Amino acid sequence: MSKVLVFAEFQNGNLKRSSQELLQFAAKSGNQVVALALGSQAAQGSAQAGHHGANEVFLAKDVAFDSYNPELFTAAVSEAIQKAGATLVLASTSSTGKDLFPRVAAKIGAGVVSDGTEIILLGEDVKVKKPLYSGKCFATAQFENAAVKIVLMRANQMPVAPADTSKSAAVTEQNFAKPNLKTLIKEIVKGASEKLDLTEANIVISGGRGLKEAGGFKILNELAEVLGATVGASRAVVDAGWVGHSMQVGQTGKTVAPSLYIAVGISGAIQHLAGMSGSKVIVAINSDANAPIFQKATYGIVGDAFEILPKLTEEFKKVLHH
Ligand SMILES: Cc1cc2nc3c(=O)[nH]c(=O)nc-3n(C[C@H](O)[C@H](O)[C@H](O)COP(=O)(O)OP(=O)(O)OC[C@H]3O[C@@H](n4cnc5c(N)ncnc54)[C@H](O)[C@@H]3O)c2cc1C
Repeated sequence: MSKVLVFAEFQNGNLKRSSQELLQFAAKSGNQVVALALGSQAAQGSAQAGHHGANEVFLAKDVAFDSYNPELFTAAVSEAIQKAGATLVLASTSSTGKDLFPRVAAKIGAGVVSDGTEIILLGEDVKVKKPLYSGKCFATAQFENAAVKIVLMRANQMPVAPADTSKSAAVTEQNFAKPNLKTLIKEIVKGASEKLDLTEANIVISGGRGLKEAGGFKILNELAEVLGATVGASRAVVDAGWVGHSMQVGQTGKTVAPSLYIAVGISGAIQHLAGMSGSKVIVAINSDANAPIFQKATYGIVGDAFEILPKLTEEFKKVLHH
């Protein structure tokens, strides 16, 4: 039996859905699962790792881990992998994951595959399916000569069962050796949004140039509020300065795979599709019946967003909130 280490990520003291996916997958594989939980958020949420299948939690409560520092995290994660004796490491293709794990791999001589959408375990063999060229084709990656295999998975690719509170993990507090840091994060300025991060959201509603101006997002936000959705955007409106870049979906923005993606006034350029075509159900609202987005859409509404969105908001209010 191998040991799997899952790099657990937390938000507001709760285990992120993407980490729940990884823990449940690792537990189902029949291997021993160690969750690595770093920082004070992790201290609050570490018990949740047990509910999702971890046998053991390596917890380092140190507030130094509250903001990501590449040097500090590389040292701690590398030490944790070695301490756990893990041969497989699972993490999310989050911004932290993408920055951190190539450094860890270089430090400990591991193999790393990122951006996975499917992982196949056959004994000691690990295969990872990942999209290439903005999802135009898929590659299956395999490890060679790697004693430790690191796989970064995209969020929302695997099912998640509700937390099983009858299961718990042994939590052991860790004091990882700290390197002499050459860089320091002085300040993090948070965005205004308290909403779930785009890549984690179950429902995403994105607006494009069809919303005419920044103020057009008002009707989109109203629908998002009723649906509990996170708002995204096309690059055209980000470039126009209507919304921040953190909301951009696509090749040069975020990759999302929610259960429901609603594209409003978005034409469906290949670079936008690259970031959302993995969504389970896609609804497109566009005044042009020939807009390419309709070729990807599960359901399409041809019409003016300014007429349709307020109607949808009203209807959903009736159905969901009475
Ligand atoms: C290297 C590179 C990287 C890129 N990366 C990204 C990326 O990450 N994400 C991204 O989104 N784009 C990206 N792009 C840009 C992409 O090619 C498109 O230009 C962009 O997605 C278009 O945004 P849009 O759909 O909002 O605007 P448009 O293409 O202008 O489409 C607006 C749509 O709104 C519809 N519309 C107009 N009025 C209404 C109305 N009243 N009601 C309903 N519909 C209406 C129109 O019919 C039209 O289909 C990238 C481009 C390049 C070259």
